[in-house]
Order: sequence, then structure tokens, then C-alpha cells
Amino acid sequence: MKPSKKILIIGGVAGGASATARLRRLDEHAEIVLLERGNEISYANCGLPYYIGGEIANKSALLLQTPEAFRRRYHVDVRVGHQVMSINRTDKIVTVKNLQSGDEYAESYDKLILSPGAEPLHPDGFESERIFTLRNVPDTLRIREFIDTHKPKNAVVVGGGYIGLEMAENLHRAGLGVTIVQRADHVLAPLDFDTACDVHRHIESKGVRLLLDNTVQAVVEKDGRLEITVKDGEQLVAEMMILAIGVRPDGSLAKQAGLQVNARGAIVVTENMLTSDPDIYAVGDAVEIVEFVAKQKDFIPLAGPANKQGRIAADHICGIDSKYTGTQGSAILRVFDMTVATTGLNERAIQDVGIDYEKSFTWSASHASYYPGAVNMAIKTLFEKPTGKILGVQITGYDGVDKRCDVIATAIRAGMSVFDLTRLELCYAPPYSSAKDPVNMAGFAAENILTGKVKTFHWHDIESLRQEQNIIFLDVRTQMEYDNGSIDGFVNIPLDDLRSRLGEIDKSKRIYVTCQIGVRGYAAARILTQNGFDAYNLSGGYRLYHSIFGPKTSVTRPSIPAASEIKVSGKALVIDACGLQCPGPIVKLSAAINSVGDGDIIEITTTDPAFCSDIEGFCRRTGNQLLETNSHKGMLIAKIRKGTKHLETTNEPVHHGKNFILFSGDLDKAIAAFIMANASAALGRKTSIFFTFWGLNLLRKPKKVRVSKDFLARMFGWMMPRGSTRLPLSKMNMGGMGAKLIRYIMKRKNIDSLEDLIASAQSQGVELIACSMSMDVMGIKPEELIDGVQLGGAAAMLAHAEESDMTLFI
Ligand code: FAD
Repeated sequence: MKPSKKILIIGGVAGGASATARLRRLDEHAEIVLLERGNEISYANCGLPYYIGGEIANKSALLLQTPEAFRRRYHVDVRVGHQVMSINRTDKIVTVKNLQSGDEYAESYDKLILSPGAEPLHPDGFESERIFTLRNVPDTLRIREFIDTHKPKNAVVVGGGYIGLEMAENLHRAGLGVTIVQRADHVLAPLDFDTACDVHRHIESKGVRLLLDNTVQAVVEKDGRLEITVKDGEQLVAEMMILAIGVRPDGSLAKQAGLQVNARGAIVVTENMLTSDPDIYAVGDAVEIVEFVAKQKDFIPLAGPANKQGRIAADHICGIDSKYTGTQGSAILRVFDMTVATTGLNERAIQDVGIDYEKSFTWSASHASYYPGAVNMAIKTLFEKPTGKILGVQITGYDGVDKRCDVIATAIRAGMSVFDLTRLELCYAPPYSSAKDPVNMAGFAAENILTGKVKTFHWHDIESLRQEQNIIFLDVRTQMEYDNGSIDGFVNIPLDDLRSRLGEIDKSKRIYVTCQIGVRGYAAARILTQNGFDAYNLSGGYRLYHSIFGPKTSVTRPSIPAASEIKVSGKALVIDACGLQCPGPIVKLSAAINSVGDGDIIEITTTDPAFCSDIEGFCRRTGNQLLETNSHKGMLIAKIRKGTKHLETTNEPVHHGKNFILFSGDLDKAIAAFIMANASAALGRKTSIFFTFWGLNLLRKPKKVRVSKDFLARMFGWMMPRGSTRLPLSKMNMGGMGAKLIRYIMKRKNIDSLEDLIASAQSQGVELIACSMSMDVMGIKPEELIDGVQLGGAAAMLAHAEESDMTLFI
């Protein structure tokens, strides 16, 4: 039988393979030719990083279809290793090159579908066999082979998008030390900065270094390593680099054929996926789409849309009027054991299109908190004012994040509002959800705002509110929570005491309330409002604020002895605080500590992420010793030894340490201190440098860090040198000329710069301790310090002095 029509498809993966299969199902008599320049079709791009990390063990698992199986199943002429070089629209033929033989031939078509995808950006100056991009199976095999043969110890991943983070995780899993360099102030562009802060903390807690607000300026390959200079001046050394800085739609064939493409090079299509030629369709990563919520033209390369568009193009060719109604950017990612999901618009996109909107932050358990294993998720809901139409959502957490994001993605498709979310009846039994599902809770919080039950303020309002006279900041958490950490300037009246202490609050002032996650703050705001106060609740509460402004985990973690150093004598008490919200775990721990003897060990398991920072503060304050913390899938396990009297080790310690106290902020003195510290570390001596007052300046990051500060602290910050590169000389500084001269001479004489000395000291294990009291006085926040610095007080310094046979004050 003569074929009904001849259809060529260019590109045999997501969009192309999907179109091909649908075409055959709809038209048994069409002649279908699938042209793919690679050697595989229909492979799992999305699984490629997991093969590199070893989680997907067999390469064959990545190949969803072999050309032969596809040919057999769909009776399609599949030609792999065949690249389409050009399209002649007048004669309706394409020129194809057989990449194996080099021969070129013409192939005619009645209908043509383009699904050429998008190509990774690879700027000039990044050429080396140690630099990789990841798009397809050959790229994957190249990376894997490099790791297997060269056994690199470390890697730099440039770009903190989906592919960058997946690669970082998988390289880490493959045993490499990983640094991510990300241009923006946060990873994952579809998220907002505030939501991404949880992700930053999680990535760093796994030992991956994250350089935000930074870019790679230059890469030089030298002695089998890459020397990478980043924008803030630091030089990284790595054995391999992954470039994951984004993709560009591959509209080259279309452009060459005179089809309409946009400024970005993406092919312009109709709702039926037709290009500007009535016989040519285009689908997938190569096309311009309409963003579903704001109805703006956009470029959102994702596998789901590509597959659906392939199906729509096939339908239209076969006479079915299927339409593509837009991409809403529903995406999900596993970041180590955390899950991050998003759908719809983020805040920046909403502001760009000028929609009047509000947002709420909720914090809900994945299932009934009394049923074992409940873990919390943070939901940021963005909605239009006053309609409540859902504009977007971002969720970070562990179990159940995917389910909630999918429910809200569906609600967005259906044009639903946050009021509708309060009415959704979702499946509930304790192991799966709560009677009020996290989706309902997001709806309730948003509804309370829109109906005026509560006025809210946000984390980014606090700085400007501080400048106002007529306000009171009120923290309604318990005394214990408040003592463990609070926002500067907030006074504490626990919620349960609030009614009886209303008389202490000045009614002529506006009251800005916070609690841990926003729930008790809401209750407090209701009490206050109904008693004639003008009250506002901090959305997301202290938890969110701390996630954004709190010190990095790696900076504040106390020096916890290695597990092998922990000498457990006495009984260990195991307590389960899973599902309890703050302050539940701390209260339970406190009771447990009271029930055991000095020196006993308590092991507590909790699902409250705030516990990680709470426990450190709690142990510091109460004189108990934090021995160990581990986290997995949202569960945090901490071991604590009761009492200030730590058990003696069996061997008498030998005191050969060297203890430096760097008070000066002068370049020459700092160089001298670091030269001695490096020498001491090289001799195998335990070495520490305690930075106090002006000495703190050389620990400051060279770039401004977004932190909340009062006026005086900001002024101090402006006046003091930001980081080691800006230190003056103690003598003959000559407005900075002297310092430059010294640096020049040192370079000429091949002497390490101060920055090299600091890096070398850190890599040799020299402990850098910033004096927390001086930091407080000078208004320096932990986030402003370079990575790897611990905070400590005079006690920490004295402890080091006692373990040393030399203390030098510089
Ligand atoms: P592709 O799947 O890229 O296919 C295009 C094909 O066309 C290529 O095989 C190419 O060789 C071929 N081709 C191009 N030009 C020619 C020519 N002239 N002649 C012949 N053949 C040609 N998306 C998600 O939604 N979730 C994820 O988790 C996810 N993870 C990803 C992980 C990685 C590492 C990568 C690279 C992508 C990931 N994506 C993910 C994106 C997703 O893979 C793409 O959105 C999707 O594959 C796009 O489909 P497509 O058909 O447009 O292009």
C-alpha cells in the first residue's frame, strides 16, 4: 500500500521519539523516518548524572529504547549517526549526512518535525580535556572514564542550576571534593533567594563548597590541574571542571531554513507546534513557549513539555487539533537527601510582569507528626491580590514534597485560588499526611492574609523597620527557644503569657511579632489585634529568618571530636523526638539530661531542622558537650555528653601546640603570623590563630554579603578593610601604595601572598577562630567571614593556650 504521507523527524530523544511513536499509533500507513545524529535514541538524559555518580550502575539502564527495538515496535526507519545538514523548504527535502561514511544524500518529506534540543553553553577560554559539559550519553561516558582513569580528587562545578547541582552531588558521591561556583546570589534560578537558603545550608552541610555571587574569570591548565580564578579573587585548584551554566535552544537548522526564530534563537511555534512553515513542526527545548501563568513568551527546557509537544505535533499532522497550552515550569530535584520542587512563577517573575501579589511561608509535617518519621517541609506560596489566584509555589523538604508540589501544579493548571486550596479534600491517614494536609495549610495561611485576619511582614522588611521609632519587635516563643537564638532587637514574651502581660506593651506602637515558624506568631497577632493593638506577624518566623541570616553550619559548628575520639563511659540514653516541632526536641532533651548522671551520653533523633543550630547553642549555654551530629533524609541524630566535666582520655595530653592571637589588622603582621602558623603546622604541631578586634578584618570575605545590621554596625563595616587583600601596612602605608609594593616584591621573590598563606594554613589544618565577642562589638556577622572559620570566645582561646607550649600575641 502507498504510504499516506512521508514524515521526517529530526532528533530522536524526548520530543522526537515521542512524536514518532504517536505518529505510528495514529497512522499505520505513513512513511516515518527518524534521523538522529548521535548513536542512541530515546535515552534518559535526566538519568545521566546518576550514572556518573554510580547510583545507576549500568549504562544500558540509560537507554530506554534501542534503534532496533524502536524500529521493530513502530515500524519506523530509524537512522542513527545521520545528521540533517540543511532544509530546502521549496523542494521539501533535507540534506542528510551519514556521519560514519561521510556521504550526504537528500531525503524528501511531506511533513517535518524538528526536535533538535538545546546545547550547553561553552564559552571560549574553557578548552581543556579536564573541562566537560553534559548533554548526552557520549558526554556522560567521557566524564565517567575520566574519573575512572585519572581518579581526580576534586572538581569545580560552574553553575548552580539543576544539572550543576545534580553533577555536584554525583561527583561528591563518586568521592571527589566539590566546589560549586554560581553567578547568582542563590542556586536554582526558578527558586527565590529565601527558599534557596535552605538548599544552600543543605549542600554545605554535605561538605560541598558553595561560592555564590561569583563567576569563573579564567582557567589555566598547569601540571595536570586546572587553576581557576574566580571573580572575588580567590584561586581554586581542581583536577576537573563541569560547565553547567545553562543551555541555548538549537534553532540553527530552522534559522538557516528561514523559519522564524526569536532573539534567543528559539524556534517560534503556534499552539499546534507549527513553525512559520505550514509543513514544518518544532518541539522541545528548541522552541519558544508561552509561560502558563503570566502568558509571556519564554524558554523553559524540560522533558515533560518536550514529550507533550511531540505528541501534539503528531496529532496535528494526523488531523487532530491538539494544542499546547503553555509551560509552567514544574520541576523537581533531589539535592543529596533533600527534595526541592517548584511550579509556576517565582517572585522575580511576578514582579517583572507587574502582578499585585502576596506570599506566605508555611512549615508543615510530611505526615501526622505523632506517627514515626514525619519530617517538615517549607512551602512558599505566591498568590495574586485580592483574587488569591495561585501564581507559584516553591517547596523544600524531604518526604512528600513531590506530592504537594504536584497538587499545587494541578491547581495552577485549573486556575484555582488559595481559597480553593483550603477546600481540597486530600487523602489522609497518619503515615501519609495530616487531617490538614500541608497544601491545605498553605491555603489557610494565605487565606488569613487575604481576608485580613492577620497582617504580615517579611524577613526583608526587618532591616528598614529597625530604623523606625514607633514599633516594638516581639518574640512569642518560649524563653528557652529565645535564649537559643533570636533576631536582634526582639523582646521575649512567650505566647502563653501574652494575655496576662498585655499591660507591658505600649499600645501606641505597632507590634511586629515573630515565633518559630509563624503559627504562634499568628495566634499572638490575633490576641493583640483583638485587644486593640496594631500587630503584624513575621511570615515563616525565626526559622526562615535564621535560614537566611543565620551563620553557616560549617562556620558555627563547634569543634566536635571525631567519633573515634569519643570515649563513651556510662550509659547512653536514646530518645526519639521525631515529629516534634521546636521547642519540643530541646524540651525533651533537657528533661533527658536531668534524668541522667554527669558524663552520660544521650542520643536524640529529631526531624526538626532548626534543632541543628539549637543544639549547638543549647550545649554551649548549658555546659553539656555536643559530641556528634549526623543527618539523613531530614532526620538529625545528635549525641550529647552531660556535664561540663568531660571525661579524661586515658593518655595524658602532651602540650606541643602553638597558639597565635592576632589582634592587629596590618598586612605585614598578618603575613608574619601566617608564616609562623604554617611553619608550626608543617612541623606537625596543633596550631590555632585566634582573631580578635582588627585581626578579624582579614577573615572578612572580599565581597559584600547580604546580612541584617544596625546603623552602627553598617558604619563600622564601611570603615574597616573588607578582607585580606585590603589590609594596610603598619608602617609606610602611603595610602595603600606601601601594601601594594610589599605584595609586588613578595610576588617577584616568589613568596606566597597572604591569601596563599591563609589557604595553605587552612589546608594544613590550622584552626582559625574568630572572637565572637569582638565580632559582636564590631558588628561583623558570621556569614561575612571566609569559609572554614570557627567562632569562639575567650574560653576557646584559653583552651588552645592550655594545650600549647607557646602563645604569641600579635
Ligand atoms: P533532546 O532530548 O536533547 O534531543 C535532541 C536530539 O536531537 C539530540 O539527541 C541531538 O543529537 C539530535 N539532533 C540535534 N540536531 C540534529 C540534527 N541536525 N540532525 C540529527 N539529529 C540532531 N528535564 C526534566 O524535566 N527533568 C530532569 O530531571 C532533567 N534532567 C536533565 C539532566 C541532564 C543531564 C540533561 C542534559 C537534561 C535534563 N533535562 C531534564 C532536560 C531534558 O532532558 C530536555 O528538556 C529534553 O530532553 C528535551 O527534549 P528534546 O527532544 O527537545 O531534545
